[in-house]
Order: sequence, then C-alpha cells, then structure tokens
Amino acid sequence: MRLDDLPRVVLAHLPTPLEFAERLTRALGGPRLFIKRDDCTGLAGGGNKARKLEFLVGDALAQGADVLVTEGGAQSNHCRQAAAAAAKTGLDCVLVLSPSQAPGFTGNLLLDHLLGARVVTVERAADRALAMAQVARELREAGRRPYVIPTGGSTGIGALGYVAAWRELEEQSRSLGVAFDAVVFCSGSGGTHGGLVAGAKLFESATRVVGISDGAPRAELLEMVLRVACETAAVLGAPLVFSADEIAIHDEYAPEGYGAPSAAMVEAVRLVARTEGLLLDPVYTGKAMAGLIGLIRTGRLTPDHTVVFLHTGGTPALFAYAETFAGTVEPGAPWRA
Ligand SMILES: *Cc1c(COP(=O)(O)O)cnc(C)c1O
Repeated sequence: MRLDDLPRVVLAHLPTPLEFAERLTRALGGPRLFIKRDDCTGLAGGGNKARKLEFLVGDALAQGADVLVTEGGAQSNHCRQAAAAAAKTGLDCVLVLSPSQAPGFTGNLLLDHLLGARVVTVERAADRALAMAQVARELREAGRRPYVIPTGGSTGIGALGYVAAWRELEEQSRSLGVAFDAVVFCSGSGGTHGGLVAGAKLFESATRVVGISDGAPRAELLEMVLRVACETAAVLGAPLVFSADEIAIHDEYAPEGYGAPSAAMVEAVRLVARTEGLLLDPVYTGKAMAGLIGLIRTGRLTPDHTVVFLHTGGTPALFAYAETFAGTVEPGAPWRA
C-alpha cells in the first residue's frame, strides 16, 4: 500500500489504546461507548497533531528542510506538538501565534517556549498566514530551508496520519470482535476529518465518520474537509471520489464559537473526569463530547449503537481556562466519614 511507502518519522506512541468507557456509557444510558485515546500519542502532551506530524516532518526531512514554520492561536495544540517534533528531529521551529480566547503564559504557550520554538506574535488570527509567508521568505533569504505547515497541519500529507489511524482502528475492531456504528470526534481545520473520511472509503468501512465542529459554521468546515480528503486521495494515488452529502458535520453544538467556553462543554468535561478519570479539553474534545451527548439526547444515537469517541487531546489548554472551571467546580464540603 502506498501509505507505507511515503516518508514518515516515528513521533507518536502507536497504536493508541481503544478503551471501553463503562461508567460513562452507564451515566449516559448508552450507546456503548469506546474511547480511542489519541490523547496518549505522546510528543509533549499527546493529541491528534502527532499523527499528522509523522508524515509532515517526514516530508520536510525528505525535502532537506532545516526549520519548521507554522501558525495557530496562542493555545494551539498543533503548534505545541510541531515545536516538540522539531526538537526531536533536530529542526528549528518558528511559530506565528495570535492571541487566544484564554490569555496568559500557560498551557500550550508555556510549552512552546519550553520546547525551544521561536515565537512571532501577531494581533489578529487573520494576519497569521501572511506573517508566516513573510517569516518563510526571510528565512530563505538568510539561506535557510523552511518547511511551511498550514493551520493544524491539515493538508493531504498531514491527513495521512488519520488514514493510518483508520487502519489501526479497524485492526483493533477486529481483534476486539466489536463493530462500530460511528466514530465521533471534534473537527476543526479539516485534517483529522478529511483523513478519516479518506481512510473509511479506502478500507471500504461501514462505520460512519461524524465530526462535531469546534465552532466553525458547517459550510466552511465542509469545504475544508472535502479539500483535504481529495488532497489525501491524490497523495495516495487512490481514485476516491467524495461528495458533500456523505460528510457528516454537526455545528449546532458549539454555537458560542471557537474557543469560547459553554455550559455544555463544562458539563461534558466534568462528567468524563468524574466517570472515567479522563481529562478532556475546553476547546475541542469538551465540545465534541457535548455534541455526542446532544446526539444521544436528540435520539440520533441510541443504546443499540456502538460508538467510538476519538479523544484528540488538548489537555494542556485546560490550565489556560482555569477561570472557566473555577466558578463551576465546587471546592467540596469538609471531609466527614
Ligand atoms: C487540532 C485539534 C482538533 C481538530 O483537528 P483538525 O484536524 O484540525 O480538525 C481536535 N482536537 C484537538 C485537541 C486539537 O488540538
């Protein structure tokens, strides 16, 4: 298979565990819920970007690059893992960051600095792409060989990580003897979603791929997912065709917008922490779990279904949102036996 012939570096701890969430399943009254632990990919705190970076950095090294350049919000998990990937492979790293919803030198931003990335700050998210191109130009003029990674690493090459993840999930499904009706996860810049859609089609799977938007309107996200899925098929040289009506995106569970906290997110993060001892994050997985709960409450997922929740990581951002949780997590009554 072409997937195994493309440049790739080992960065992630794979395969990630696939665990039955017994107490969460019971708390929600079904469906049978399994959690695919991509928060356990390693690479300075885990998350989905490690899978994409295996192929992106593989491509960068194959091209002889000596510095990674990428961009995101100050609490970007992608930037944090890109900085770690650069450190591990001996590349330099420049991050173009714009202010996040959650301010403060904490969470991912703290880790970016710790990991040795050079941080360039811009005022608005809309300025990042241009600033990144300028950084790349200056590096080239100085004789360096930059490898530029767009938002979230969501390109056909990055998404190969989630084609490989689909194959990994199918192997786990077979060895567990469990068939899955759907994989539910947070969709943000289209890379994870595009890769999963391409993987599902490539491996002729009957499992549905259901993305919960991190706040972007459905139409906007759909365009990104379709683009990445097509790019991925092209990189693989696979004659796959995708149509808009086969891409499932729910944008009704994050009406507050990207990075903005919501009561449903806080409820979801608390519920999973207290039933499974498992940490979600405030920007992505907390909202995806709120969406999954919404799909159950509206009867679109029922106790007969068996569902995989793909935990895409993001835990470091919890610390940047301390104030959001401070008001909602009760300190607890004095201990009494
Ligand atoms: C980036 C990210 C996502 C979204 O992944 P995309 O491939 O950009 O859609 C989801 N969850 C977490 C924790 C992330 O960091």
